[in-house]
Amino acid sequence: MNEIFLLKLGEIVLKGANKRQFESRLRQNVRRRMKPYGNFDVYILQSTVYVEPQDENADVDGAWEACRAIFGVVSLCRCRPCEKNVDAIYEAVENYLGEDLDCAESFKVESKRSDKQFPLTSIQLSQEIGGRLAEAHPSCRVDVHHPAYTVFVEVRDFAAYVHGPAEPGAGGLPTGVGGRAMVLLSGGIDSPVAAYMIAKRGVEIEAVHFFSYPYTSQLAKDKVVELARLVTRYCGKMTVNVVPFTEIQEAIRDNCPEEFFTLIMRRFMMEISQRIAQGDGCGALITGENLGQVASQTMEAMAVTGAVVDIPIFMPLVGMDKEEIVTIARKIGTLETSILPYEDCCTVFTPKHPKTKPTLGQVIHAEKALDRQALIENALNSIEKIKVSYHDESLL
Ligand code: ATP
Ligand code: MG
Repeated sequence: MNEIFLLKLGEIVLKGANKRQFESRLRQNVRRRMKPYGNFDVYILQSTVYVEPQDENADVDGAWEACRAIFGVVSLCRCRPCEKNVDAIYEAVENYLGEDLDCAESFKVESKRSDKQFPLTSIQLSQEIGGRLAEAHPSCRVDVHHPAYTVFVEVRDFAAYVHGPAEPGAGGLPTGVGGRAMVLLSGGIDSPVAAYMIAKRGVEIEAVHFFSYPYTSQLAKDKVVELARLVTRYCGKMTVNVVPFTEIQEAIRDNCPEEFFTLIMRRFMMEISQRIAQGDGCGALITGENLGQVASQTMEAMAVTGAVVDIPIFMPLVGMDKEEIVTIARKIGTLETSILPYEDCCTVFTPKHPKTKPTLGQVIHAEKALDRQALIENALNSIEKIKVSYHDESLL
């Protein structure tokens, strides 16, 4: 085998009694994520996941990209395995990393020996390999304190592995160890980032989208499905529940005081989302709300919208600045899609002067003109469920 990946486990190493369950979940996740790229063997030894392509047809670069988005992995490297003797290790470093060394100004070798039967200590091995490399690459001097490039040698149970600097992994906890939650996914910048952040804590994600056709277009719906697809790069698969919202919005417009439109609408969203969440085994809701961003995101407004549900509402962006959110959106690849200019139902019938400090009593009173439960049942009866996964074709 020419090349394999080593994925180093993050926080899960610390999880004591849960460690075994976490590791087995991570192994399953990696196996599933590797499937589209060919035949890979995936196993865990000493807090490291080994990902080995089994034949020449495997798409190694595609698999590597996928590994960078797997939660629970703190760092990862592409390695060349070799026999556990100094000559083989030197030859592997030379063949695999020789060009990198020629480009670097200085280097050092760092060795780790988890196989204590190996005859040299880590320091002796680093000195031996470093000495040979220094001779073969006179333009690259040895600098053990501030090297421009580090060659890593790991002597493990079945083989030795050589690699250059590791890359940071996606971090977080393996998908599935933290239960399941339902994100309220709009077409904006915030909610996909919110979904990503909760997914990173090991949570499986389902989504709900409120769709106000013809006030919002088919393109707006496709955009949301595409955003969900982009988030599945990190969280695996997802189902988007598209809830028809036109009837509810028109009923609010026709029957309630304008200053409460948005709040009443958001209370419908929350209650419907909770109903779907409970049917789908989700223990919490996720929103992209952010304190003070708009009138419906003041503390008082959040209290009014939150009062209608009794499962937790996670708002991972609540205290962030827009730039911080945009930076994450860019990093996870959702920003470009989020800024496509299709309307969200929140911008239909927005009041000119929304109430920023509502009380629950006022809103409940304003809602009295509606048969809320009948409207909710109607919406729940016409949900469209769209399954998305990262390898589905992009819709846009
Ligand atoms: P985003 O960028 O996520 O759209 P936003 O700053 O535009 O957020 P709002 O439009 O007030 O904020 O919505 C707040 C949150 O409510 C969103 O982050 C999302 O979780 C949820 N939400 C808004 N519109 C919808 C929708 N059409 N379907 C599902 N959830 C929605
Ligand atoms: Mg929005």
